[in-house]
Amino acid sequence: MKLDSKIPAGHISTKWTDYKDHLKLVAPNNRGKIDVIIVGTGLAGASAAASLGEMGYSVKAFCYQDSPRRAHSIAAQGGINAAKNYQNDGDSIYRLFYDTIKGGDYRAREANVHRLAEVSVNIIDQCVAQGVPFARDYGGLLDNRSFGGTQVQRTFYAAGQTGQQLLLGAYSALSRQIGLGHVKMYNRHEMLDLVKVDGKARGIIARNLITGDLERHSAHAVVIATGGYGNVYFLSTNAMGSNVTAAWKVHKKGAYFANPCYVQIHPTCIPIHGTNQSKLTLMSESLRNSGRIWVPKKIEDAEAIRAGKLKPTQIAEEDRDYYLERRYPAFGNLVPRDVASRAAKERCDAGFGIENNATGEGVYLDFSTEIEKKGKEMAYIQGDHNPSKETVIKLGKQWIEEKYGNLFTMYEKITDENPYETPMKIYPAVHYTMGGVWVDYNLESTIPGCFVTGEANFSDHGANRLGASALMQGLADGYFVLPYTISDYLADDIRTGHISTDLPEFVEAENDVKGLIDRLLEVKGSKSVDQFHKELGLIMWNKVGMARNEQGLKEAIVEIAALREEFYNNVYVPGTAHELNTELEKALRVADFMELGQLMAVDALQRKESCGGHFREEYQDAEGETLRDDENFKFVGAWEYKGPEATQAVLHKEELVYEFITIAARNYK
Ligand SMILES: Cc1cc2nc3c(=O)[nH]c(=O)nc-3n(C[C@H](O)[C@H](O)[C@H](O)COP(=O)(O)OP(=O)(O)OC[C@H]3O[C@@H](n4cnc5c(N)ncnc54)[C@H](O)[C@@H]3O)c2cc1C
Repeated sequence: MKLDSKIPAGHISTKWTDYKDHLKLVAPNNRGKIDVIIVGTGLAGASAAASLGEMGYSVKAFCYQDSPRRAHSIAAQGGINAAKNYQNDGDSIYRLFYDTIKGGDYRAREANVHRLAEVSVNIIDQCVAQGVPFARDYGGLLDNRSFGGTQVQRTFYAAGQTGQQLLLGAYSALSRQIGLGHVKMYNRHEMLDLVKVDGKARGIIARNLITGDLERHSAHAVVIATGGYGNVYFLSTNAMGSNVTAAWKVHKKGAYFANPCYVQIHPTCIPIHGTNQSKLTLMSESLRNSGRIWVPKKIEDAEAIRAGKLKPTQIAEEDRDYYLERRYPAFGNLVPRDVASRAAKERCDAGFGIENNATGEGVYLDFSTEIEKKGKEMAYIQGDHNPSKETVIKLGKQWIEEKYGNLFTMYEKITDENPYETPMKIYPAVHYTMGGVWVDYNLESTIPGCFVTGEANFSDHGANRLGASALMQGLADGYFVLPYTISDYLADDIRTGHISTDLPEFVEAENDVKGLIDRLLEVKGSKSVDQFHKELGLIMWNKVGMARNEQGLKEAIVEIAALREEFYNNVYVPGTAHELNTELEKALRVADFMELGQLMAVDALQRKESCGGHFREEYQDAEGETLRDDENFKFVGAWEYKGPEATQAVLHKEELVYEFITIAARNYK
C-alpha cells in the first residue's frame, strides 16, 4: 500500500482552515446512531471522548485503570506549550511551528506541526474555561516559563502538576458526557485486539480485568489513544502500566508503525540506584529554567564525590564545569532534551559522573545561583536594598518553593537529600516515544476507520519532542482535530446501522486472544514476567538506547529473538484467566514489547544517520553533534507487519517535504 498522508494543498497558514471548511459533516440528528470506540482516556482519549460525546456521538471509552483520572497523563509536570505570546517576547504561531520542526531535527510533517501550533492557542482557552488552575502572574494573566529548544516563554503550567490539572479538566468534561449517557465508560478493561470487517476497523476485543471475561464491542470507528511505549526499556519515567499492546495489535492488523526507533531520553531524571527498581522519576524540565547543570572540572573531584569524600557544595565555582553553558552559549541549560542528554552522557563516559551507582552516572542540577538571584529580587521588592546573605537565601528558597515546591518535596522523599541545600542529582532516562502508529493528516491509520491520537501516534514531534509539546499534541488531537476528521469519515456511516458482534470476524479475534492467553498460562516455566521484561530492557538500553551502532543493533535483533523464544517456553504466569490476574496482564504486554523492541532495533539499523533522539555513533560531527543525512533519510519510516520476526517487516517511506521551512543543521550554539 502506498502511503498517502492526505496533506491538503495551499499555504501552510490556511491549509487547516480551508481543509476543515470542506470536510463532510454528520448532522446532529444522525450522530446518536453512530458508535465510536475510544481506547484510552488519558489526555488524548479523554478529550476526544468528551468532544465526541458533546457532539452527540454514541461513545464507548475504555481504560485499564480503575478511573480515567489515573491515566499516565497525570504524571506530566512541567507544562503545556501554546503560541499566545503573553510575554511579548516575540512568540507566534510560526515560531512555535518553526521551533517544533527544528527541535524534531527536521523529521516531522510540516502541515501537522503548523496545525498543532495554530490550535495550541485554543487549547489554553478551552482548559481555562474548564477551570484548569494555570499559574498566573501578579497582574492576573496566565504565567509562562521556558522549556528546552526555545528562546521564548510559552509554557503554561500549574506548579509541577500540569498534567494532573489538565486531566482533571478533561475528566470533568468526560464525566459530564458519561452523566448525559453519551459516553459509556469501561474502566478496568484492556483492549487486546482490533476487529476488522470488510477491511475497516469495526470493533475491539477487550478483557474485563476484574473478571477476566473477554468482551466484544463494535463501533463504526475505533480511536486508539493508548499512550507511548517507553516501558519497552523496563526502566523509564512512564507509569508502570504504560504499554504498547493496543497500538501493536492494530499494527498486526495492518496499521503501519512509524519511526519506532525515535525515543526521547529525558535529561533530568533521578539517577538509577539499583537493579530492583522498576520505575524512574522525572524531575521536570521546567527546573532547567532555574537550575544550572554541572559536573566537577577535575576528575579527582568527581571521584572524591562518588566516594562520598567531598560534597558538591565544597567544589569552588571555578572548579565546576557548567558544560551546557560552555558548549551551547545561546541556549545554555535550555538546549533540547536530546542535546542535553547526550552532553550528560559524554561527561559521565569521560569519568566526570557524580553518582555513586554502578556506572557512576549522574550530574548536578544546582539551584544556588537562582536562589541568590531571586532572593535579592524579593528583598528589593520588600524595600530591603541591602539584604543580609541569610535574608537573600531565605527569600530565594521561598521563591523556589512557590515555583517548584512539589518537585523539591518529591525529590527529597525519594533521595533523602534536601535540594534547597545541595544540588539535585540527575541523569537521562527513557521518557517519551516519538514513534507510533502511522497516521495521515486526518489522524487515520492505514486501516480505514482506525484513528490514533496522542502519544500512540507518530505524528508531530519528528525525531525529538520539545518539552511541553506532548500535552499540547494530545489535547489538540482530541479537542480540535479528531472531531472534524472523524466526522468526515463517519459521514458515510449514517445508514450502516448497528454492527453485530456475532460476525465471524469478532469470533475469530476473540478466539485469537483466548489462544494467546491460554498459551501463556500453559507454559508454567521458571522465570517471572518481570525477569523477561528486565532482560529485554537491558538489551534495549545498552544497544538501542541513548547511543546506537551497527554492531550493537545487529546483536540486539538476535538477542531479542532468542529472548522471545525463551519467553514462550519458560515464562511463569501464575493464576488463571478468569480472575483479576496482574501477572497475566503484564505477560500479554511484555509479549508485545518483545516484538516491538526488535522492530525498534531494525528501524534504528536502517536509519544510517543521527537525528534527534536517534544517535548512531557512526554518524556524528567532530563536536559529537548529530549528523543527519537529509538526502537519503528525510522520510518517515513506516513498517508493515509481516510476522513476529521484525526482520521480515517491510519498510514504506513517506518523503518529508519542507515547503515553508528551510532545512538547516540544528545549532543551539
Ligand atoms: C513523568 C512525566 C512527566 C511529563 N511531563 C510532561 C509535561 O510537562 N509536558 C508535556 O507536554 N508532556 C509531559 N509528559 C508526556 C505526557 O505526559 C504524555 O506524552 C501524555 O500524557 C500522553 O497522553 P496520552 O493521552 O497519549 O496517553 P496516556 O496518558 O498514557 O493514556 C493512555 C490511556 O490508554 C489506556 N490504555 C493503554 N492501553 C490500553 C489498552 N490496551 N486497553 C485499554 N486502555 C488502554 C490507559 O488506561 C490510559 O487511559 C510527561 C511524561 C512523564 C512520564
